[in-house]
Amino acid sequence: MSIIAIDLGGTRIKTGIIADGAVGELSITEISINDGLSQYLPLLKERITYLRQYSDSIDGIAIAFPGLVDTNRNIVIGNSGKYNDACTLDLVGWAQKEFGLGLLLENDARLACLGEWKYGAGQGFSDMVMCTLGTGVGSSAIIHNKILRGKHYQAGILGGHSIIDFNNMEDKCSCGNYGCVEATASTWMMGKLAKRHPLFSESKLCRLPVIDLQAIFRESLAGDELAVFLRDHCMKAWGIGLINLIHAYDPEVVVIGGGIIHSKEIILPYFRKIIEERAWCASGMPEIRAAHYPDSAALLGTTTLFTKRSNE
Ligand SMILES: [Zn+2]
Repeated sequence: MSIIAIDLGGTRIKTGIIADGAVGELSITEISINDGLSQYLPLLKERITYLRQYSDSIDGIAIAFPGLVDTNRNIVIGNSGKYNDACTLDLVGWAQKEFGLGLLLENDARLACLGEWKYGAGQGFSDMVMCTLGTGVGSSAIIHNKILRGKHYQAGILGGHSIIDFNNMEDKCSCGNYGCVEATASTWMMGKLAKRHPLFSESKLCRLPVIDLQAIFRESLAGDELAVFLRDHCMKAWGIGLINLIHAYDPEVVVIGGGIIHSKEIILPYFRKIIEERAWCASGMPEIRAAHYPDSAALLGTTTLFTKRSNE
């Protein structure tokens, strides 16, 4: 089986050809998140045309989308400021007209979860939660070997929008609400949190053009007091968010992905500790593991869309 897979990230578009459980010809393009999807269709057409030459038998095209996807009708039904025109585009018709190929859509966090479950850190488990930490906070769950979608295709994937700071009506989340995990601890909130802290003017962060999670983890290792504070603030928010996911979905394993997994030596022991201390798990704690494919799990997960749709 060969699939042309496209992962529409908030700031990057990844494309590749998936065959035998591996990603080939991976390409990553940095993009501006506020532009609609239609303007990237020429880029996608170019990439798909390029990738087609690597296989005589392409089974189809799959798109991992950062929003709500109705997998029954195979359309995007909701987004949160990313690719705002996606709900109005006929992507299936576009793929058929341009390439004569079928196209399947699914939420990106679900595909990352399926990718890690089938090929990575979740292999061999029947019940799994995946949480991606970075630009935003994504989640997804597999229960009894079946990916969770729910009546309106939003089950499991809104873990980043579980509310952990209910008195906060100041920091608006990408979803429009307040106090979500993502509004408390994600890359896009770091600059705002740093600048209003009393230690900002004496922190190294104040001299950086971009204050993101990478900078915060790097400076915290160098002993910067504000960076340590922000790092601990984020880890606590994520840890509490993970406990909410564990209480909701009762997994055997929790797989952590996203850019922050490069700091796994710091975050995984912290998560194990806070879950041990604060989660209600009468039959033992779930395993906490790092994703095996933090950069390509969603692409790998697209193979499950083209096999029997019983992983649903
Ligand atoms: Zn939110």
